[in-house]
Amino acid sequence: MTTPTREIHLASRPFGWPTHDDFRTVQTELADPGPGEVLVRNTFLSVDPYMRGRMNDTRSYVPPFRLDAPLEGGAVGEVLASGDEQVPVGATVLHQAGWREHALLKAGQLRVVDVGRVPASAYLGVLGMPGMTAYVGLTRIAPVQEGETVFVSGAAGAVGSAAGQMARLLGAAKVVGSAGSPEKVAWVTGDLGFDAAFDYHDGPVGQLLKEHAPIDVYFDNVGGEHLEAAISAMADFGRVAACGAIATYNETDPSPGPRNMFLVVTRRISIRGFIVMDHGDVAGEFYRRAGEWFADGRLTHQETIVDGLDATIDAFLDLHRGANIGKMLVRL
Ligand code: NDP
Repeated sequence: MTTPTREIHLASRPFGWPTHDDFRTVQTELADPGPGEVLVRNTFLSVDPYMRGRMNDTRSYVPPFRLDAPLEGGAVGEVLASGDEQVPVGATVLHQAGWREHALLKAGQLRVVDVGRVPASAYLGVLGMPGMTAYVGLTRIAPVQEGETVFVSGAAGAVGSAAGQMARLLGAAKVVGSAGSPEKVAWVTGDLGFDAAFDYHDGPVGQLLKEHAPIDVYFDNVGGEHLEAAISAMADFGRVAACGAIATYNETDPSPGPRNMFLVVTRRISIRGFIVMDHGDVAGEFYRRAGEWFADGRLTHQETIVDGLDATIDAFLDLHRGANIGKMLVRL
């Protein structure tokens, strides 16, 4: 027996903004699982900004995606057949074989997750890699102290929405966010409890942020103009968790750095980059604390869900255009 299925391959390496021509949907067949293997039907696929970097053939913290091979990424799914007694048929599992309808995996490549109290999709968002990124940034990289002011860019995205809420839960007195639409600003200041937020299209970010200075901690998802603005608004001894720079991911020329770097010296600012997967030791602590916050409603989330494998490429492109509120997901 085999299982017919479809998967999305990288057909060419994008230059600048990816297009549909850079991808190819391929029909294939998966064998039944042998001993120690598991056949999974994916139910949710994650599309994430870091995937754009893996489409380039450059040295980075993860190897580039291979051409003419299925793309990879976070996914949850249901076990259809199992050759491993630890992974029963019907279990919900989290794994990295996304961008495809089914996956044949070794049992060691997946984790069985509890969907009794947590929806499966949350393991790709607020209780998954994006949520843990927010937690690591605010506890290990630029730890928030009681009473501080925290600025989060990309505040209505998966990482940013978690970061703003966690900043408050970790003791921040004031949480400020930036996002790309009035609807997003209303969500973060309403449901998520940010004290203030602005739409960065409404003027120079430096001007919009000025009234919220001094900033003690900046959680940077965006880079570019946002980073320069934040440096100008930082308090003495301020800390920046450099998480991402999505404003630059599809640029074809390297973007100039902040023009105000001397303020890093005079204000004794720390800017520290990080990659969440270097911090696996925090996972237990993150799942326990974030799980409690989520269960009692102090940590909320939203998802933007599109349906069907054929919607995956657009979901990925739309993520970079800001079409998502909260975590962008594909439901199969
Ligand atoms: P999001 O859910 O935040 O989606 C991306 C968002 O970026 C869009 O919704 C859009 O929102 C915003 N955006 C796009 N272009 C721009 C721009 N030019 N200026 C400002 N905002 C822009 O994605 P994630 O939460 O998954 O990721 C957020 C950041 O965190 C990314 O930079 C990502 O690379 C990084 N990251 C880093 C990790 C690490 O280990 N260091 C791990 C995971 C993510 P808007 O409408 O507001 O513009």
